[in-house]
Amino acid sequence: MPATDFTITDHLEVLILLIQEIQALESISVKKVDKVVRRHPLSNGSILAKDQVVKAYRELAGSHGLSPFEPELLKYLQMKPMRTMSGVTPVTVLTKPFPCPGTCIFCPNDIRMPKSYLSDEPGAQRAERNYFDPYLQTYNRLQAFQNIGHPITKVEIIILGGTWSYYPETYQIWFVKECFRAMNDFGVNDGRAVIETQYETMESAYHQMNVHAPTNSPAENEKVLHSQIIDGQVKGKSYNQVISELYVAPERKAGFDAYQSATWEELQLEQQKNETAELRNVGLVIETRPDNISEAEVIRIRKLGCTKAQIGFQSLNDDVLTKNKRGHDVAASRTAVKLLRQAGFKIHAHWMANLYGSSVEQDKLDFTTLFDDPDFKPDELKIYPCSLIASAELMQYHQKGLWQPYTYTELLSVLEFCLTNTPSYCRLTRVIRDIPSSDIVEGNKLTNFRQIAEQAIAKAGEYSQDIRAREVRQLVVDPELLRLNAVEYETSSSHEVFFEFIVPAPNPDQPPKIAAFLRLSLPTSQSFITELQNAAIIREVHVYGQSLGLGQKQTGKAQHGGLGTRLIEAALKLAREKKLAQVAVISAVGTREYYRHRGFVDGELYQFHAV
Ligand code: SF4
Repeated sequence: MPATDFTITDHLEVLILLIQEIQALESISVKKVDKVVRRHPLSNGSILAKDQVVKAYRELAGSHGLSPFEPELLKYLQMKPMRTMSGVTPVTVLTKPFPCPGTCIFCPNDIRMPKSYLSDEPGAQRAERNYFDPYLQTYNRLQAFQNIGHPITKVEIIILGGTWSYYPETYQIWFVKECFRAMNDFGVNDGRAVIETQYETMESAYHQMNVHAPTNSPAENEKVLHSQIIDGQVKGKSYNQVISELYVAPERKAGFDAYQSATWEELQLEQQKNETAELRNVGLVIETRPDNISEAEVIRIRKLGCTKAQIGFQSLNDDVLTKNKRGHDVAASRTAVKLLRQAGFKIHAHWMANLYGSSVEQDKLDFTTLFDDPDFKPDELKIYPCSLIASAELMQYHQKGLWQPYTYTELLSVLEFCLTNTPSYCRLTRVIRDIPSSDIVEGNKLTNFRQIAEQAIAKAGEYSQDIRAREVRQLVVDPELLRLNAVEYETSSSHEVFFEFIVPAPNPDQPPKIAAFLRLSLPTSQSFITELQNAAIIREVHVYGQSLGLGQKQTGKAQHGGLGTRLIEAALKLAREKKLAQVAVISAVGTREYYRHRGFVDGELYQFHAV
């Protein structure tokens, strides 16, 4: 339930009880507050989100027999520091249910969702409650972050759902434009009511056609679509067929796809506004398949403002890819990485363990290839051990005894290997996919398996070198101890330099902590993008610390200590030494001003600094 759908009066009784109990706590802590909140579910069984508790506390304290409002108490209600610890506020938005060109046997077929997502995942529920509308999702998520006291001026938009490149181009442009419009509107305009009316109009058009209209009520959608749910054991219809009948055809007939479309000019207008808006976009991520990446596609997603691509390798073994009906080979992943890297994108790979046809040994070999083979070496990685989901075709293989989930020991062995063999320039963003345990038919249901694997390697005196394990987080950094380090490695299209500001870890046995980093590509082959000829490319600049408002300072913490500028200077110096003509940066729309202030000038798709 987004904050806007939540009305205090509908739940007054339970909210008064909840606040009474929090106010009566003898000693207060975030944990105790959480417990109280869990003891008071709403009448529909859902647990109140932090922003809803905050909203209720703000509105009800001092009335209905409750003690007066105390700003100090608010801190405990808002506390949830992890999400924006890495410096920016991530806003994840899902695209609408839509056909996918893939037929991967492990992929869920949840017809209420874009391919591969499950309707009871929290992010997916948020999207459904917002009609999968990009404006509503972005605005409401920002609102939720603001309600719980997070600074929201630097926003990373992460677009998830199926295969991005397979959606019509006009839908993609509209989707991104609406995300920008929501950031630009936030705190200035509120366009949500107008959009909700659009969806209500759509609902009545669908009813006239005698077709189920997707509503913003997960319970209602579940009830209506229950009979069409795809069961992986008995596949009557494919996901794509059902989706076409349920959504694509009616949308076209009702003219709704015309509403969900925009032009490049409309997008550019919102992007220009965002350059100086209060809330700026500092990163834009899409996810797609390797075989959808071509030179033209790379340029196109760059025009959308994209700075990072999530790309599903899944396996680096052709036999495993074929067995899983992946529909592309390893060569496609090699080409995709090369093109994306030549264009300066950050490469966020997805890789799966325990696929049909693989084994513990094969997985370890595959993982070694990920970082040994110069065609791969991703910047970020999600490790998703395969889970058995009822709606996936894999169910049939399981029934026939052809595939089994790894045992606890096997899974632990693979994950320990992954943690200890990830190089220091890569960030392991996920080590297990956070699938609700009720969706997993058989196999691992422990979502904290990363922690389990980390504890296991620590017992053996080992630590992961990956970026996530080394982030400074809440650590107060002594500027005197900061040291600039450069990790260099070769890829098939570049010499990569990973500049990092490091500080000694509090535990001397652990690898140093990372306060900031910059990824610099020194190309070793001609780029297909004309304006990048003879240019080094800054692919990422990241300074850690709690996300702050643009221009704010926070003494002692890593952010805004000039580390970004010092890293850029190091990149310029190296490019000069290598006799390159210029340094390009793949800037996000909302960071263009930042780079202009540091002497960069606008090109067509990148910004440039002479060296
Ligand atoms: S390409 Fe991705 S979304 Fe499509 S079926 Fe395969 S795993 Fe699922």
